Amino acid sequence: MPKKALVRMLNPRTAAHQLADLARSSGAAAAAVIPARLVAIDSRVRLKCQIPLCPHYGHNLVCPPAVPSPREFTQSLRRYRWAVVVLVAGRLSGPDEERMGQADELARDLYRVVASLEARALELGFPLACGLAGGHCRLCPACVGQRSDQMCRHPFQPRPAAEALGVDVVETARRAGLELTFPVSDRVQWVGILLL
Ligand code: SF4
Repeated sequence: MPKKALVRMLNPRTAAHQLADLARSSGAAAAAVIPARLVAIDSRVRLKCQIPLCPHYGHNLVCPPAVPSPREFTQSLRRYRWAVVVLVAGRLSGPDEERMGQADELARDLYRVVASLEARALELGFPLACGLAGGHCRLCPACVGQRSDQMCRHPFQPRPAAEALGVDVVETARRAGLELTFPVSDRVQWVGILLL
């Protein structure tokens, strides 16, 4: 009788540290592992999507109200054990338009890193690993929009922003030992999270 193949899942903490290494080797400026319970939730962060009203609210497919509320997200967050906090950062230079383009490109770098971590986590035996990015999705020059009847052009790539789910990204980064600097002038910093 053939032996059953045994799928051995890595210890989640070990896997989280491996994924943090992968984030750094994929171009992240920094990555750190914290217990998922230290991901800071504050419903006021989500409130700031509406007050003042962000132009992407109700439009971008991975922005509120099309994503889970802070309360819904908190319920799911309780089921995760570890969080890999990822920082993608870069300098901005030139006129405003060029700087915006550079910031957008760095945001797309974050999506790529988070998506690669999530894919690797699946291979390591964590099918419910969940990646969160930062800001509205910038994968297309213009999103198809929540009120259109069109599907996302890249359905497996966008991840909602952690802040859209009510994550206090600044506090979470601080708890992970990653200090963000403000105000943003010459250097942009995007924070993503992989939950394991
Ligand atoms: S990939 Fe394009 S269509 Fe999909 S959410 Fe992002 S911007 Fe919108």
